[in-house]
Amino acid sequence: MAQIISEENRLKVYVETYGCQMNLADTEIVLGIMNKSGYSPTQTIDDADVVLLNTCSVREHAEEKIHQRLSVIKKQLSGKPELVVGVLGCMAERLRSNLIDRHRVDIVVGPDEYRKLPELLDGALAGSQGIGVRLSRTETYDDITPFRTEGISAWISVMRGCDKFCTFCIVPFTRGRERSRSLAGVVREIEQLVGQGFREVTLLGQNVNSYTDSGSDFADLLSAVASVDSRLRVRFTTSHPQDLSDKLIETIASHDNLCNYIHLPVQSGSNRILEAMNRTYTREHYLALVDRIKSRIPGVALSTDIISGFPTETEEEHRETLSLMEEVRYDGAYMFKYSPREGTPAYRLGDDVPDEVKSRRLAEIISLQQKISGEVNQSVVGKTVEVMVDGSSRKSDLQLSGRTGANKTVVFPSGSFKPGDLVKVKIGRASSATLFGEPVGGFN
Ligand code: SAM
Ligand code: SF4
Repeated sequence: MAQIISEENRLKVYVETYGCQMNLADTEIVLGIMNKSGYSPTQTIDDADVVLLNTCSVREHAEEKIHQRLSVIKKQLSGKPELVVGVLGCMAERLRSNLIDRHRVDIVVGPDEYRKLPELLDGALAGSQGIGVRLSRTETYDDITPFRTEGISAWISVMRGCDKFCTFCIVPFTRGRERSRSLAGVVREIEQLVGQGFREVTLLGQNVNSYTDSGSDFADLLSAVASVDSRLRVRFTTSHPQDLSDKLIETIASHDNLCNYIHLPVQSGSNRILEAMNRTYTREHYLALVDRIKSRIPGVALSTDIISGFPTETEEEHRETLSLMEEVRYDGAYMFKYSPREGTPAYRLGDDVPDEVKSRRLAEIISLQQKISGEVNQSVVGKTVEVMVDGSSRKSDLQLSGRTGANKTVVFPSGSFKPGDLVKVKIGRASSATLFGEPVGGFN
């Protein structure tokens, strides 16, 4: 028999989420699990009985930030000895009991053990520390209903883990082997989201292109999701350049509600570095793929990830990255300095590009991308684009902010539009990050 817990008897859980969109989606799964076992989410740390940090290990800087945050939380809340503090996510998986030794946290739970949270929290509330860091080959949380607060746009993990083993990357070690959710389970969840009024979904995985379920691939999943409701906007991330099939390109081209936007991390423009990174494609393969995408999906927007200063990277190889950026002309990019991660194959190569060289190369990459983004955005001035309203713009309540199918942020006067509305906006000016315009018509 289901246990009914009155609102005032429910313990309050506060979660801070760091890192990628997968972590945001995981936090909703965690809250789904906890809500079912008698906890209520709170947005205020001072109200909380349980404080959880869902963490990221991708770069050293991300981990340092969390160590600092844990020290602050432990100090700030030292007057509440009954408070339970836990670490979730990739750092929990990587550092395990070291986190208990260093920060005296109560629980440490890796990405595949969230079902154990209620049990571990029971123990912690009774005064014992607990760890759950086993990785699974099968866990996909397919049956868990994520706890979502926002009503327009939803993240949905369709697969977990990664089998790519890029030599710089900690993810295969912290999130384990690749596994996919069932197509039927994903479609069911999306039908529910549409019923609840969601207008946009983003399908998530470290490499969505290797999604597989009983003979269905990612293109089949996208078709099925797009067919749930033709008014639902469907996005996805991340695509690995080796696995993005022509079938997927055709699928995107043939559905109006599959957004014309592909995040296609390249990491480097040099074949020698790509090989050292174990990216399994060449510059030529990547550029040919980009050509096919652009010719089959007119107006497609592309973004990427780039790492500066991978071990042994020469000046010449850095310039090959810049020239690839010029050739592709990305709409946007996430750009990082190489950060050595203990346990990865690249760690053994050392970290021989001096920090000031990495920083200078990164600055050159960022400055080139800003110039290209500015030019690409400038080409939209004078055109009318369809924008889905997200909410008030960051700078003024009199302005709304929304995104186009190509994921461009557009700011325009509020009028009577509300989040989720589709509005036609004529673009009057553009910066490298934002388009600005006037509504010329809207519809729901
Ligand atoms: N699976 C996705 C992919 O392959 O693009 C993204 C995973 S990772 C969380 C996001 C980005 O972080 C990567 O594309 C890469 O550019 C960057 N990254 C990963 N490990 C890194 C490292 N050790 N140093 C710097 N950047 C790193
Ligand atoms: Fe990391 Fe490469 Fe997997 Fe992306 S594809 S998560 S960069 S190992």
